[in-house]
Amino acid sequence: MAANERTFLPLSQATPPYFIGVDLGGTNIKTGLVDDRGNTLAFTAVKTEVPAGADAGVGRMAQSIETVLQEVGLTKEAIAGVGLGSPGPMDIPAGMLLEPVNLEGWDYFPLRDRLQEKCEIPVTFSNDANAAAYGEFWIGSGREYHSMIMITLGTGVGGGIIIGDLSIDGEHSHGSELGHLPIFSDPNARICSCHQRGHLEAYASATALINRTYEALRAGRKSSLAQLVAEGQELNGLNIAQAAEAGDELAEELIMETADFLGLGMVIFLHTIDPAAIVIGGAMTFGRDETELGRRFLKRIHEVALQRAFPVPAQKVVLRYATLGGDAGYIGAAGRARVDYYQQKMNTPGTPKN
Ligand SMILES: [Zn+2]
Repeated sequence: MAANERTFLPLSQATPPYFIGVDLGGTNIKTGLVDDRGNTLAFTAVKTEVPAGADAGVGRMAQSIETVLQEVGLTKEAIAGVGLGSPGPMDIPAGMLLEPVNLEGWDYFPLRDRLQEKCEIPVTFSNDANAAAYGEFWIGSGREYHSMIMITLGTGVGGGIIIGDLSIDGEHSHGSELGHLPIFSDPNARICSCHQRGHLEAYASATALINRTYEALRAGRKSSLAQLVAEGQELNGLNIAQAAEAGDELAEELIMETADFLGLGMVIFLHTIDPAAIVIGGAMTFGRDETELGRRFLKRIHEVALQRAFPVPAQKVVLRYATLGGDAGYIGAAGRARVDYYQQKMNTPGTPKN
């Protein structure tokens, strides 16, 4: 969903209680005020400005919370909880960042408590990828299910797992690291961004697709992309996809090979979790259902699962694209705050989302 497609529900039609979701990224802080059904009432995005430091970042998040409150005409007393999704690694029970790759210099910062002190609203702390998965689960592509896995394809490969309405953060806040599943054990397997070999991300991210394309061109494979490179252009997920759509055989082959790697990942998900739905999101989704290439990509992932996984989960799982785009993060972070709010209110573990 592009930013200009975001629709705002008027306060008069919204369902209280209200929550605010903050999606902290290495580039932007996206903040949205949502109602009890996940409808967005107000939204703002500001630059993170990582080098200015974590305290300044907390200041910008608190200011963004003020902005969305003012836009709707609510005070902070009307907000039942703030959800904060942050890049990991992190210690969720402690509310602490560890050594986040995308927030250089914010190491071992007590992010949850500092934001809570500043905005005076209870803050629920989540991993950003897990929050985005929860957003899709709550009101996006997984809304009719009680178990779902989301895998996001971009510079890296991220993901989130929800089982029985509970998001799987893990005992040590490192759960649902789906990009770092080993799919190859070969000692010469590709090296992942985390420096280990053979991980899914090293094969199926946009970065991996670009690297594999350059390698094929260097090896002398014929492709229209060779012309782009000769003209000094850099390859990216978009121009590789465009080449495939225009009939370029190499681009098509490498994109379908990406689907094959994801299919191996999917077999692991089916055999560990057996979810109702697997949702593919992120920046690299080849036009999703709206293009022939997007539909072929999804079909190919499913074909691998049908060949290599147990037939019942492979046939019954619903495989589809995400629908919330870049909004999934703040919506899901708000949704996680909502879970905490109802859990405390009802004193029950696991809150039904409906
Ligand atoms: Zn890895």
